[in-house]
Amino acid sequence: MMKNVPLYLAGEFVQSQASEWIDVTDPATNEVIAKAPCTTDAEMRKAIDSASEMFKTWKEVPVSERARVMLRYQALLKEHHDEIAEILSQETGKTFEDAKGDVWRGIEVVEHAANVASLMMGETVENVAREVDTHSWTQPLGVCAGITPFNFPAMIPLWMFPMAIACGNTFILKPSEQDPLTPMRLAELFEEAGAPKGVLQVVHGGKEQVDVLLTDPAIRAVSFVGSVPVGRYIYETGTRNMKRVQSFAGAKNHMVILPDADKQQVINALVGASVGAAGQRCMAISVAVFVGEAQQWIPELKEAMAKVRPGAWNDSGASYGPIISAKAKDRVESLIATGEAQGANLLLDGRGCTVDGLPDGNWVGPTLFSGVTTEMDIYKEEIFGPVLSCMETDSLGEAIELINKSPYGNGVSIFTNSGGCARRFQHEIDVGQVGVNIPIPVPMPFFSFTGWKGSFYGDQHAYGKQAVRFYTETKTVTSRWFSKEATATSEANFSIQLR
Ligand code: NAD
Repeated sequence: MMKNVPLYLAGEFVQSQASEWIDVTDPATNEVIAKAPCTTDAEMRKAIDSASEMFKTWKEVPVSERARVMLRYQALLKEHHDEIAEILSQETGKTFEDAKGDVWRGIEVVEHAANVASLMMGETVENVAREVDTHSWTQPLGVCAGITPFNFPAMIPLWMFPMAIACGNTFILKPSEQDPLTPMRLAELFEEAGAPKGVLQVVHGGKEQVDVLLTDPAIRAVSFVGSVPVGRYIYETGTRNMKRVQSFAGAKNHMVILPDADKQQVINALVGASVGAAGQRCMAISVAVFVGEAQQWIPELKEAMAKVRPGAWNDSGASYGPIISAKAKDRVESLIATGEAQGANLLLDGRGCTVDGLPDGNWVGPTLFSGVTTEMDIYKEEIFGPVLSCMETDSLGEAIELINKSPYGNGVSIFTNSGGCARRFQHEIDVGQVGVNIPIPVPMPFFSFTGWKGSFYGDQHAYGKQAVRFYTETKTVTSRWFSKEATATSEANFSIQLR
């Protein structure tokens, strides 16, 4: 049944007064399942004012109480795991198993946020001068905002607001207009977990609403995840408006295959990491770099990929779902056509794919190219579809050089049985997240999500200790307590030296 997505404003789930609404579609049928409002200026103002007001009380709540909200929240998310995954599957088309993974990787961040007291610990040194001690505290910033993409509607909002709020901030989330139902369910459960009203606000819309968050002086920090052009815009605009910004953008991830690797492991990893989630992952492998004789495995890779098929979220035989929108599907198909026209060998063509009973879905079948070169658009563009490009090099050194020239640096992987080659690769590669015999090396939440180069603009990354640094300010206190015996100096000290 079609529904209007509410706003979460000042602790209430309310209908927007918006005059413009955005269709939310089921990508397997293209039916409109909900409408998301383009939040009005007055509603944006209310979200910001209420978050600013709430900050005054939330920052005074003891850290252990804030942590307990996260403990209750993670328990509730686990309890509702399947239900959230079902909502997520319907609005993204992800298979149920994949949707559960999306929710699970978010729950792990909430668990991490429950450790906030240890993560926020400062430093202390006694006797930095005679009878002088110094300690540092980390204090929350104020109102923080998050703008999230369509491809992980549970995990990515959960990268942001639990960490920010556990640190004592209040938060305004602007989720993707393409799948806002999952984030709304996350917000409902957050309130149920005992988060005071107003600590989290959720608004909807696109550029116009994002621009308010990027320019309003009350917003201290902005976290963004999405495509490269928008990511650059967010970083440039947010920092010009004196905000702290972390902006995670698009990617093109390579997997290097050395001939000493286990062939079957390589084929399994490549198929899953390239077409899983219909290739709509920022850490998907989109380029396979076969070194030397390893290229002889390409025909077997083709055979394995040909067996994979997309389907409905609740079809247990489907390996992945549809592309998020008809427009995104057309873009993927047109890039496949460009690859062919620019001279790559199209070994498997996923265009024109159909799924029984779902004639209107945005289906693209597994697609495989070989003989891809760096000048081709299918190499340069992030395709964000189930398309794998194979390249060949003569040596590991050549593969490293190729990857280091890429403007992106989100993820990379090497498959080999040689410790020496793996060690060299880890050390020399200019990419922020490296997998050794692991195709999608997304770090667990006690580390941070550390994309590099054109895949990330900013300094402090998502989750882990870096998120705490991003969402807090350090205050350093230097104090002297005079003991009775201390002789009061009768003279003023005109030096800056501590004595
Ligand atoms: P997108 O850039 O189109 O949208 C992301 C968010 O930005 C949405 O909330 C959208 O409403 C908003 N937005 C869109 N246009 C805007 C504009 N002109 N000004 C201000 N805000 C705007 O991205 P998407 O298609 O939803 O997500 C897919 C992209 O996200 C891919 O490029 C993928 O690689 C990237 N991604 C990156 C990571 C990472 O960690 N590096 C993780 C997930 C996704």
